[in-house]
Amino acid sequence: MREKTDVLIVGGGIVGAATAYHLARQGVPTVLLEAETLAWGATGRNLGFIWVHTRKVGPELDLVMATRTGIDQLVGELDADVELQTNGGLVFFQDERQAPVMRELVEQRNANGVPMTLLSGDEARELVPLLPPAVLGATYCPLDTQVEPTLWVQAFAGAARRLGAQIREGVRVERLLREGDRIVGVATDAGEIEARDVVLAAGGWAPELAATAGLELPIHPMRLQIVQTLPMPRETRHIVYGSNALKQYSTFQDLPSFDDSLFVNEVEWRHDMLLLEGLSQKADGSYLLGCAMDYPGFVWDADLRGVSLINEVFMEHIPRLREAGFAKAWAGILPFTVDNLPIVDRMPGVDGLIVAAGHVFGNGSGPTSGQLVASMVTGEAPVISLEPFRAARDGLQLTADSSVW
Ligand SMILES: Cc1cc2nc3c(=O)[nH]c(=O)nc-3n(C[C@H](O)[C@H](O)[C@H](O)COP(=O)(O)OP(=O)(O)OC[C@H]3O[C@@H](n4cnc5c(N)ncnc54)[C@H](O)[C@@H]3O)c2cc1C
Repeated sequence: MREKTDVLIVGGGIVGAATAYHLARQGVPTVLLEAETLAWGATGRNLGFIWVHTRKVGPELDLVMATRTGIDQLVGELDADVELQTNGGLVFFQDERQAPVMRELVEQRNANGVPMTLLSGDEARELVPLLPPAVLGATYCPLDTQVEPTLWVQAFAGAARRLGAQIREGVRVERLLREGDRIVGVATDAGEIEARDVVLAAGGWAPELAATAGLELPIHPMRLQIVQTLPMPRETRHIVYGSNALKQYSTFQDLPSFDDSLFVNEVEWRHDMLLLEGLSQKADGSYLLGCAMDYPGFVWDADLRGVSLINEVFMEHIPRLREAGFAKAWAGILPFTVDNLPIVDRMPGVDGLIVAAGHVFGNGSGPTSGQLVASMVTGEAPVISLEPFRAARDGLQLTADSSVW
């Protein structure tokens, strides 16, 4: 006899855990299977940013704001400490020639309804004393938020459990069970489970699992690396980007005064790798410094090139970090689609399979996707339109070598 459930979720990252929570809230019998431990994948390896600053107006911003707007209440409902900090985020700059485009960013974002101010160097240092005198100014968005991503996942999973969902760690899904045009469940290393709906929330692993049922997903791997310092005095309560990180965002690249050559660091050239220069300080005082970015395939190991790039740029831009002790470094796979929006949809061509994968900025978008999946299952009205996240939307590609957000 096969075990049976209404909904079977594959993956215990932020997307799977949030989906389990929203389904359990609606009383839907739900089982979540995680091959390793909760947050073992990209979520537990990330910087903890819920970044609004440069999100594109439209579905991208809507996805994040649906979570950001009610975040205090949500965290209250989850009844867990997620090290939430709603103090906002900064992008600092150190080159006078960058000032005009930073000013233009602030004007454009305010015109688009994203509140933002341009801080002087002194104002930026008042918020983030770690920043050196060489910082000339910073853009500041009060909506940027920080969570501790492993706690974020555990909070959703814990609340889901209390509401009756079964959350099982250490159970690997080996393949989707397909009978004709229907996905009827999954085969795991602990036996088969039948489900009315299977939710594929396996992040970067989603394409290989879809392939076990003969299905293709246009989701691609980008490797990001992080260095963690030993604990330092606790003083940084904002999330921080260096201006060079902005070239990864099309809202910034598309500004008339953007000039590529002003936002590339010599160290990036030397290492032939780009740096998404961002930092956050955890409650234990350690800093997470990231993120070296490249596309070597499905590679989960950090390398010396990435670690050197991170260390060299941060020691140059924030000299106080030269005093920092080294704790560890790691890599994670950020799954992306070419339009940077996740796929949150019933898979065309088969019944019984919902895909919720391809999240570039999952800390903010993942909880919203969880809500969207729950509404697909229960038939309730979705919190935002599902159309932009359709699996069969125009433009998605089965191969991609790089990505700009
Ligand atoms: C270094 C780094 C920094 C980042 N920084 C940020 C940031 O600051 N803010 C932000 O919003 N986003 C950030 N991201 C992106 C963010 O981490 C992802 O968008 C998000 O984690 C995706 O969540 P997910 O639940 O889809 O995937 P994951 O967190 O990867 O979860 C998928 C889970 O599925 C499990 N799984 C895989 N195969 C199976 C199987 N066969 N059976 C059962 N379980 C399986 C995995 O073990 C994993 O736990 C960053 C990513 C990286 C790598």
